[in-house]
Amino acid sequence: MTIPFVDIAIIGGGPGGLALAQGLRKHGIDVAVYERDPVRADYVQGFRLGLRQRGLDALEANLPPHLLEAFLGTLGYAPSESLIFDEYFHPLAAPEWARGPEDRHGEKSVSRITLRQILLSGLDDIVHVGRVFDHYAEQADGTVVAHFTDGSAVRANVLVGADGANSAVRRQLLPDFRIVDTGMRRLAGKMTLDAAARHAISPLLLDYRTSIRPTAGRRIMFSAHRVDPAAYARFGLIGQDDATHRDIAGFHFDNTTSYVWWNTAYALNELATDAELARLDGAGLIELLLRHVGHWDERIVTLIRNSDPSTVAMLKVRTSEPGAVWETGPVTLLGDAIHSMTYFQALGGNSALHDAGLLAAQLVAARNGGKPLLPALHDYEEAMREHGYEAVRTSLSAMLRNAAADPVSGSVAAA
Ligand SMILES: Cc1cc2nc3c(=O)[nH]c(=O)nc-3n(C[C@H](O)[C@H](O)[C@H](O)COP(=O)(O)OP(=O)(O)OC[C@H]3O[C@@H](n4cnc5c(N)ncnc54)[C@H](O)[C@@H]3O)c2cc1C
Repeated sequence: MTIPFVDIAIIGGGPGGLALAQGLRKHGIDVAVYERDPVRADYVQGFRLGLRQRGLDALEANLPPHLLEAFLGTLGYAPSESLIFDEYFHPLAAPEWARGPEDRHGEKSVSRITLRQILLSGLDDIVHVGRVFDHYAEQADGTVVAHFTDGSAVRANVLVGADGANSAVRRQLLPDFRIVDTGMRRLAGKMTLDAAARHAISPLLLDYRTSIRPTAGRRIMFSAHRVDPAAYARFGLIGQDDATHRDIAGFHFDNTTSYVWWNTAYALNELATDAELARLDGAGLIELLLRHVGHWDERIVTLIRNSDPSTVAMLKVRTSEPGAVWETGPVTLLGDAIHSMTYFQALGGNSALHDAGLLAAQLVAARNGGKPLLPALHDYEEAMREHGYEAVRTSLSAMLRNAAADPVSGSVAAA
């Protein structure tokens, strides 16, 4: 059997892998993406992403002009002004550490569904879905062969593991690499803005990025994601509901409705044991949370009580341990595959996009500018480790600071 060849093979069609594919294709580089799942319907896909300058810069560099225009033209909007209250809506001042320099675009709210529609555009012939990477084998001629669980394989000059936090590529390249459970358990949910109007939800929870910092208990953050699909119609299917989600019940993957969302995080066993949490559906989780916050101001309680149960779920907050360094070869890593982090600070997806920008630039220098391939990969890895590991640390410190600031019993394990 002849094994097909591609210059750059990317494992994983998440934001990082697809943004890299866009950047390489834009410069005429031979690239293919191998993605496991035909439909992206993991829980967080139903939420928006916060945008940072580093993510925007990478999209500007990697997307062709018409897709960049579609990205900017279909951005959702979030409130840019922040408010802080205690649980009885008494205003609180922001702590000093919350006022540091930022590269956030707080008012820009990126639908993950729309971003995926954009990143997949024009790549039909090079994105292969239903292909599950299994292992790779380096060849004597410096190429690498990626093997898939269906028995197929592809040979490439460079294999990029962009296959997320549980990366199978990383497992082979860096067998000692660890992802650890921080002990925090995140609970989040959404309500459509139409439902918010029916329940007379306070503008304080809809028109601002509002953090409730209770005198005792865990904080909850509220924000909104506003979209205008009628205005996006000029971009065709981009910004509309995604056909791949049509058969999924509930509002969670509805991409054309504006919503208010909230999230909170509790320590291990503080709400319930993991086994109990796993048994509860969205309605059960709302009920459980209300046992902790049901005495708060009625405006907060009304929003939580009436959140759409299909949008409520618990996630274990995990982080990688930053610091791994390896000898540069034909296999490299990008995004969550090498620097997965907690969701605090909205850095993970932006860091994956940033990697895609860095790696595309190096591969373009190698293919179109005469730079030798291994030094190009080495320079990418150095830059990626510097910003990526820093982001992991920043995100974990933010989580620990948040958890420690809340006066409750229950410990948070530092990773
Ligand atoms: C609750 C929560 C909130 C977040 N909020 C934000 C935010 O506001 N801003 C932000 O910047 N980041 C945020 N993040 C982080 C962000 O979601 C991730 O950092 C981002 O998705 C990483 O992109 P990626 O392309 O590296 O990996 P992924 O998005 O994980 O994509 C990996 C892809 O690889 C595929 N794959 C996996 N294994 C295989 C295999 N063996 N073979 C083939 N394909 C495979 C998967 O199907 C997937 O499509 C948040 C994360 C969480 C959990």
